[in-house]
Amino acid sequence: MNKLEKATALINDESHYNADCTRIDYYNLVIDHAHGATLVDVDGNEYIDLLASASAINVGHTPDKVVDAITEQAKKLIHYTPAYFHHTPQIELAERLTKLAPGDSEKMVSFGLTGSDANDAIIKFSRAYTGRQYIVSFMGSYHGSTYGSMSLSGTSLNMTRKMGPMLPGVVHVPYPDLYRRLPGESEHDVAMRYFDSFKKPFESFLPADEVACVLIEPIQGDGGIVKAPEEFMQLVYKFCHENGILFAVDEVNQGLGRTGKMWGIQQYDNIEPDLMSVGKSIAAGMPLSAVVGKKEVMQSLEAPANVFTTAANPVCCAASLATLDILEEEDLVNKSKVDGEYAKQQFLDMQKRHPNIGDVRMWGLNGGIELVKDRETKEADPDFATKVIYYAFQHGVVIITLCGNILRFQPPLVITREQLDKAFAVLDDAFTAAENNEVEIPADAGKIGW
Ligand code: PMP
Repeated sequence: MNKLEKATALINDESHYNADCTRIDYYNLVIDHAHGATLVDVDGNEYIDLLASASAINVGHTPDKVVDAITEQAKKLIHYTPAYFHHTPQIELAERLTKLAPGDSEKMVSFGLTGSDANDAIIKFSRAYTGRQYIVSFMGSYHGSTYGSMSLSGTSLNMTRKMGPMLPGVVHVPYPDLYRRLPGESEHDVAMRYFDSFKKPFESFLPADEVACVLIEPIQGDGGIVKAPEEFMQLVYKFCHENGILFAVDEVNQGLGRTGKMWGIQQYDNIEPDLMSVGKSIAAGMPLSAVVGKKEVMQSLEAPANVFTTAANPVCCAASLATLDILEEEDLVNKSKVDGEYAKQQFLDMQKRHPNIGDVRMWGLNGGIELVKDRETKEADPDFATKVIYYAFQHGVVIITLCGNILRFQPPLVITREQLDKAFAVLDDAFTAAENNEVEIPADAGKIGW
């Protein structure tokens, strides 16, 4: 048995680790170490990482500056609970985040450990501030895995199956889909049709003056890298303001440079959220999250309303400060934009040669490549997608699917042009191999797709 076989046997042994309810994808890749956009498995095989730990490693794996910050901080103070005392990295980070957040209003920060608890905090703060109960969120959204954030999510049946009932008071409305629009519809038509759907509950069972907030992903991440039309977002934003409803955005997946802007919501003109959740890439993969909100909203709760003993961990906060430095010093937000345009063009070129590529969506280094059986019917082709990702894996490129048939392209923002070009060459070959039915997936490859 080689090292990989041993490790695979270990993770497949349910008595040690319940992989089945955690691991969504993958062909038993066991990572030993990583740097930049390169992963190395336990047998020393190298892979180009196009997933960035699910958009949690925007500044790349193990950057020196983050490693040094973690080491230095760990020597000084590993933790003291924020329930009682403060520490310097937490105070500095809160100030930095409020300055980075979109808009001019005064802001405050409350820290957690995961994107999920940051979205729970959005429920808490918006209910407390408005004194209202209902929350509107979107079908296709993913907000997390705690009961609150799971209740907000509209992605996967396995997030609710056998675990109900979910938190009461959440109403899901459709998120616009520009790819599968009705025949003859313009982008304006799509925006108006979905805004009508958005308003429907308010016209029947949902009194607007009982709604605390609308929570939206600026670009749906796990929903397939889907961006709402500008007009739709503006109409929802305006509707919220007119009705005293807080406008909250989930930046956990799309924030911190992923879309080629610092925040995903900056893909739209002049929107200042009342609340936003941040996680994943905020600390280069260390467990840290934050809800950043307008001061008056954040002051609506008193301790211990949003306290977790190990939240705002000083080592994580130090890692986060170093992460923000790297984003700035290496101009990674702009790099994401420029490389994203390049990547989009590469996929559009491949689309000309490969009929199963139905749609190429890309904002920054943040793409959803939708694979279909037929470009006319747009019927999803998860089998084709599975073959593509399996072939890519066999040839040193790590990429996964969203919704079964959409390639998730979210590499670390530090990925080099050379790595990108290598990955595109492998993907091009993968499409050809899948078209020619040349990809055999062995039964023991692991669970692929969800
Ligand atoms: N919000 C969004 C948009 C996400 O993509 C995710 C994770 N996929 C979360 C929240 C949950 O974050 P975490 O897994 O850190 O709880």
